[in-house]
Order: sequence, then C-alpha cells, then structure tokens
Amino acid sequence: MRDLSHDLGLLAINSATVKAWSLEQLVEGCARAGISAIAPWRDIVQAHGIDKAGKLIRDARLDVSCLCRGGMFPASDEAGRHAALDDNKRAVDEAVAIGARCLVLIAGGLPKGSKDLAGAHAQVRDGIAALLPHARAANMPLAIEPLHPMTAADRACVNTLAHANDLCDELGQGLGIALDVYHVWWDPDLPRQIARAGKRIITYHVCDWLVPTRDLVFDRGMPGDGVIDLRAIRAMVEATGYAGHCDVEIFSAQDWWKRDPAEVLQICVERHQSVV
Ligand code: ZN
Repeated sequence: MRDLSHDLGLLAINSATVKAWSLEQLVEGCARAGISAIAPWRDIVQAHGIDKAGKLIRDARLDVSCLCRGGMFPASDEAGRHAALDDNKRAVDEAVAIGARCLVLIAGGLPKGSKDLAGAHAQVRDGIAALLPHARAANMPLAIEPLHPMTAADRACVNTLAHANDLCDELGQGLGIALDVYHVWWDPDLPRQIARAGKRIITYHVCDWLVPTRDLVFDRGMPGDGVIDLRAIRAMVEATGYAGHCDVEIFSAQDWWKRDPAEVLQICVERHQSVV
C-alpha cells in the first residue's frame, strides 16, 4: 500500500469539494497548497470555456484525474436518449480538451413516471454501448461510477460494483470503473468485486459516511469524520495495481461548502496524509 503521509502527488481535489470556486480559483488554490491534481465538474470547465480551460490546466501543469461527469442515459423517448448521447459525446470531447484521465459516468435513474427498472438498466447499457465508439476513437476511457442504492430512482440505477463489473464484462474495452467509497463502502461483496474489477478501476474517490446522514446527496463527510474504513478499501484497490489519485469529493451543503475553500483544501491535505 502506498505511503501518502509525505507526498501530495496522489491527492486530487474534486471541484465539488470547493464548490464556491471557479476553475481559475481551483487551479490557483491547488497551486498555492502544493496540490498537483484536480477533478473538475463540467460546469466550471464550461463556464471557463473548454479550450481556455485546457490551456489554464496545462499551463499550471496540473493532472486531471477525471472529468465529472457524463451519463444519465435513460429517457422516456427516443429524442431524450438521443439528446443524452449527444451530451455525452460533448463530455468526452471536453475530457479530451482538458487532458482528463477518464470521463466519469453515472447511470441515470428511472425516466419520469416509469417503474421499469430493468428497462432503465437496459437503457444504461445501450447508452454506454452507443457512446463507446466515440470514446474509443478519442482515446478517452469511460468510468462508470456505481452510486449508492438510495439514488436508484433519480440519479443512477447502477448501484453496485458487481453491476459495474458486469457492464465492463459485457461492453469491453474502453469502459472502466470510478470507485467512490461513499457509494460502495456498505457492500458485503466489496472485497470480491474490487478484486474482480482489477485494472478496470481507473479513478478513486474518497470522502466519508456521516452518522447520522442528514441529506441523501449533500451531506458527505471529510475523510476521517465518518465510519468508512478508508485504509482498508484503499488497500484492496491498490492491491489491484491501482496507481492513480485519491480524489477528495465532498458534497456538503451544511458544513464544508460554508467554509473558506482555502481552509477546506488544507484540511483535505491533512486528511489525505493521515487517514485516506
Ligand atoms: Zn464520486
């Protein structure tokens, strides 16, 4: 297992963690804090302008562990599915423009009014299959991120690492996995599925599970503040050969988003070195 206690080279800051910052502020803030990798969301990249964002990141010599995110495939009609595919192709192009190591995908949930979960699963599989030729041609790996089952209806109906592994088995080259501890820590099958995933894990997200959790989306904890055995999960992930970043991704409307982003970065650094 890698020693993170001295080297910040493996720390990436997800832009969701410092939501108040623009891309420019994130780049500057990371430079000031000695952090060499970021994981931006599409909104701040688009706000800056895609080409300008690529130049800004290259000039700062920052690594981009992933671009968050594409996906959201299921729709109630063909036009909706087509629009989703078009948007995902743009997301691939944006990931290429900023030099991201992969594009994170979340599945999407049930179309409005639908109770057809199996149909949604099929739409996700078909959506990724339709996107893969564009991603392969662009040499941009796709990383499906299984989300916690509480999100199955409205955000993502791929909820276990086993399901993500099945999709990789079925769809083949060009599709990997984004493993986010928040979404998978509870799964009794996790050790087996991480071993099964092997080299497919191409990006790794950390935060913590707070007790109690006050919001289904926006109450993630800083690593070390909750109940996830972060060291144990990282050990399993690194045993597969994972050599990428640990991307701190925290949605926290009531706590971390209210603090000074520069202070949040400092705490991310400390926790990266001591508990991740
Ligand atoms: Zn994540």
